[in-house]
Amino acid sequence: MTQKLDILDDHFHDECGVFGVFGHPEASNLAYLGLYALQHRGQESAGIVSSDGTDLHLHRAMGEVEEIFQPHVLAELPGSLAIGHTRYSTAGDKALLNAQPIMIDCNKGKLALGHNGNLTNAADWRRKLEHRGSIFQTNSDTEVIVHLIARSQARNLSGALGDALNQVEGAYSLLVLTQDELYAVRDPRGFRPLVLGKLPLPSGGEAWMAASETCAFDLLNAQYVREIEPGEMVRISRSGIESIHFAPEKPHQQCIFEHVYFSRPDSIIFGRSVNESREMLGRLLAKEHPADADIVVPVPDSGVPAAVGYALESKIPFRMGLIRNHYIGRTFIEPSQAIRNFGVKLKLNPVRNLIEGKRIVLVDDSIVRGTTSRKIVRMVREAGAIEVHVRISCPPTISPCYYGVDTPTREELIASSNSPEEICRFLGADSLGYLSLSGMKQAVSDTEGKFCTSCYTGNYPTDLVQLEVREGHAKAGDTLPGNLSEAPQAERPVAVQHED
Ligand code: SF4
Repeated sequence: MTQKLDILDDHFHDECGVFGVFGHPEASNLAYLGLYALQHRGQESAGIVSSDGTDLHLHRAMGEVEEIFQPHVLAELPGSLAIGHTRYSTAGDKALLNAQPIMIDCNKGKLALGHNGNLTNAADWRRKLEHRGSIFQTNSDTEVIVHLIARSQARNLSGALGDALNQVEGAYSLLVLTQDELYAVRDPRGFRPLVLGKLPLPSGGEAWMAASETCAFDLLNAQYVREIEPGEMVRISRSGIESIHFAPEKPHQQCIFEHVYFSRPDSIIFGRSVNESREMLGRLLAKEHPADADIVVPVPDSGVPAAVGYALESKIPFRMGLIRNHYIGRTFIEPSQAIRNFGVKLKLNPVRNLIEGKRIVLVDDSIVRGTTSRKIVRMVREAGAIEVHVRISCPPTISPCYYGVDTPTREELIASSNSPEEICRFLGADSLGYLSLSGMKQAVSDTEGKFCTSCYTGNYPTDLVQLEVREGHAKAGDTLPGNLSEAPQAERPVAVQHED
C-alpha cells in the first residue's frame, strides 16, 4: 500500500517562501537558487515570474523547485526582474490553480504577486467582492488582494497596494512584480519574516533582493541589508529604493515558531540568529527541566541546536543517537508483513551502540499530535535505552495558527486537551518537560512583547470571526477560539511509570 509520508512529520508546516530580485541579468536563475534555499518553507508547488521590461513570463508547477526549474524552463523566463514562490498550501486547496506567483493584467498594468501568510478576513472580502461582480479564478486568499488592487481609485500601484492592504487583516509578507518594479511588503504586525539584500554586480552597481530568510542570500553571496519592517512597503525601481509606511503602526507579532522550528538555523530572522535562539531554548530547557541522564540525543534535524544547548548547559554529553535518512521520497510502499514502527524507521534509525544501557534525554522542538514522538520513544527503548526523558524546547502547543501556518485542528493537538502528565504517559516516557512561555520569550530576547505566541496561549491578536474549518486542518474560519488562559506549563519534569 502506498502512503503519503507526511503522516510521519508531526510538525506545524510553514506555508511559503518568497524570493525576489531586481536588476540582475540572470534574474530567474537567481530566483531559482533563492527558492532552492527556501525549499523547507513549502514543497507542494513552486513558481517564478520574470520581467524583461515589457512582458511578464510565468512558470508554475506542482512539485519541488529542483524538479520544476530545468534549464529549458528557466530559459523561457528572461529579464532582469523576477519573483519566486514555494508553497505548502494553507488557504485554498493544493491544486496548481492555487500555485503562486499569481499573474494578472488589470487596470494597474501587468502584475505578479507572491504571498507568505494568511489573511484572516479573506472569506468576508471574497463574499463582498463577488457580490460586487468580481470573478475569482482561485480559492487562495491572495486573490482578494489582487481584486482590491484592481478596484482601488489610487493612480499609482504603491497607492493601490496600500489601499488594498489597509483593508485586509492577518499575515502577509508579499512580493509584487511589475514590468519595471519590485515591491516587498510586510503586514503591520510583521507575523512572517521578509528581508532585504543586495548583490554587487561585476559591471558595477548592484542587484537588490528580497527573501523570506537570509539563507537565500548566503547561497548567492548576496549581503543581508536589513529586515523589511512591519507595515513597510519597499519599492525598488530604476530610480532606487523607496520606503513607504503604508499603514498605521500596530503592536508587532513576529512568529516565535520561526525561531523554534520553521526557519533554517543558518538564517537571521527578525534581526537575530535562529541558531543562537535554538541553542538558548535548549540551555533554558536544561535549567528548567534538568534530568539525571547519560547522554543528550536530538530528534534530527530540527531538534539538534536545542539539544546542543541542553548538553552545553547540563554538561551531559551530546550524541547523535538517531540518524535521519535524508533521501526518502514523499510516498512509500508499505510491506504487507507489518513491521513495527515501520513509518518512523523510514525516517529515523537509532544508533544502538550509543543508546544501549543508557539513560537518554531526548530533545525535540515540539509535539503536535504526539503520535510520532510516541513511536520515537518506543524505538529508542527498543534500541536498549533504560530511561527516556523527553524535553521539548517550547511550551505545549494548545491552539491552531491562523497566520500562514498549516496546523491541525485544536482537537488534534494533544496538548489542547491533555496535561503534560497525560502526554508523558501517552509517549511512554519516564519524564516530560516543556520549556515555559517565559523561557521561550527569554531565549529570543523578547523583552517588549514583539512576538506572536498564540499557538501556545490561545490568545489571538486579530479578529478571527471569519474562520472556517477544513477537514483535518485549521485555517482562517476555524471555530471561534474561546479566550483561553495561559498555556498549561510543565513546571517540573513529570515522572511517570513507563507503560508498554
Ligand atoms: Fe507563529 Fe504560532 Fe503565532 Fe502562528 S500562532 S504565527 S505558528 S507563534
